[in-house]
Amino acid sequence: MKRTLLACLSLGAAPALAQTSITTLPPPVAVDPTVAALRDEALNNDHYAWDIAEGLTTEVGQRLAATEAEARARDWAVKRLTAMGFANVHVEPFTMPIWTRGAESAEIVSPFPQKLVVAALGYSGSTGPAGVTGEIAYFDSVDALRLAPDSAVRGKIVFIDHHMAPTQDGSGYGQFGAPRRQGPTIASLKGAIGIVVRSIGTDHHRNPHTGIQYFTDGARPIPAGALSVPDAEQLVRILRRGMPVVMHLTLVSQRHEDGRSGNVVAEIPGRDPKTPILLIGGHLDSWDLATGAIDDASGVAIMTAAARHIMDAGRPLRTIRVVWFGAEEPGGFGGKAFAAAHAKDSYAIAGESDLGADRVWRFSTKLSRSDPAAYARLTAALAPLGIVKDDDGKADGTDVEPTIDAGAPWITLNQDAIRYFDYHHTPDDTLDKIDPVQLRQNVAAWTAVLATLSGGIEPGPKQPKRR
Ligand code: ZN
Ligand code: ZN
Repeated sequence: MKRTLLACLSLGAAPALAQTSITTLPPPVAVDPTVAALRDEALNNDHYAWDIAEGLTTEVGQRLAATEAEARARDWAVKRLTAMGFANVHVEPFTMPIWTRGAESAEIVSPFPQKLVVAALGYSGSTGPAGVTGEIAYFDSVDALRLAPDSAVRGKIVFIDHHMAPTQDGSGYGQFGAPRRQGPTIASLKGAIGIVVRSIGTDHHRNPHTGIQYFTDGARPIPAGALSVPDAEQLVRILRRGMPVVMHLTLVSQRHEDGRSGNVVAEIPGRDPKTPILLIGGHLDSWDLATGAIDDASGVAIMTAAARHIMDAGRPLRTIRVVWFGAEEPGGFGGKAFAAAHAKDSYAIAGESDLGADRVWRFSTKLSRSDPAAYARLTAALAPLGIVKDDDGKADGTDVEPTIDAGAPWITLNQDAIRYFDYHHTPDDTLDKIDPVQLRQNVAAWTAVLATLSGGIEPGPKQPKRR
């Protein structure tokens, strides 16, 4: 950069940017003072989000989908949303298969007997208490497993090794999640008796990362687990000694088809009920290994807090609907149930927070094409928070995806994901991972989005300052 600039100066030319006439710049956009004031109040003083994340993780704890704990979380949510002054607070129930974890362990039987740390993946088959014993069949990627002849896998325990590096946009999760998502089905179809994958994570702690997988294509459910990253690396070193490696794997679990879950819905009724709604949310359920602070207590906290800041200012033209979706982790059951139940509703925007609570650094929206004026206002309102626009972004969020697929315009605010996959789906996803300062920046960003798209907020009677 420096060298280019010097080169320009030495030739007597000004840098290219300085040659742009101001008459060719896009029209200036002034940020509505109400929007700016709400945004800055949230940035400096929000406590709603922290109170929700702290309360939910402390008073409910882990909230595995369709369990009694998730039901307690719904009760907690209804009480909290009602106490915060939201209207139409209610639960919309649905059914789904419930899967719960039992005893789990992995040990090398030979050549070097030792224990490894493992966690079952969602909807894993059960070994039963006796476990299974088999030789390890090593693959460095899910594609290597796909290419292998059945004879290399049959009767063995497959191990897929791979590497996931941290990225700011979290894009590694999509690509490197394949061993977890498709590996068990491929291994089962090739006759494996079990599978362990290197955790889909970016840390080096002895914490396995759980997560969902499904058996498709008629594959028989086999035990499927994730080794912590250091344990996977240990297994690789053992394999490199060149001798057959035998593992004893115990992954006990239960599955029932009649699980009950639900979405918790709350609203700020708009002045015009016919105007398309602003839909925002996160998911209420968590995995069972921790309290799900960054996945996704922080998401429901951020969205609810942002809506509450709008309520502080008065009554928006559009209804704001906040949803704490149930059963996202086992496959987005809540989002699908919500879209089906609200197929007739019309939305002005749909957005979700489900990538932790580190600072939002980028945003994108379908409005960039369909409503450039609103896009310009959003860009201007978010810029002071250090958020850049992405003209080519795409929709994100498992819970809102079915609603977006049905036609709702979308908005995505990307959090910095550099450290998110250190903790994601591990026993380490706890409240201390939420940085209160960055959490407030998230609330400020979504407050600015809601205020900008609200259709105007009419000052009303001051809401009492409740939790
Ligand atoms: Zn999540
Ligand atoms: Zn998750």
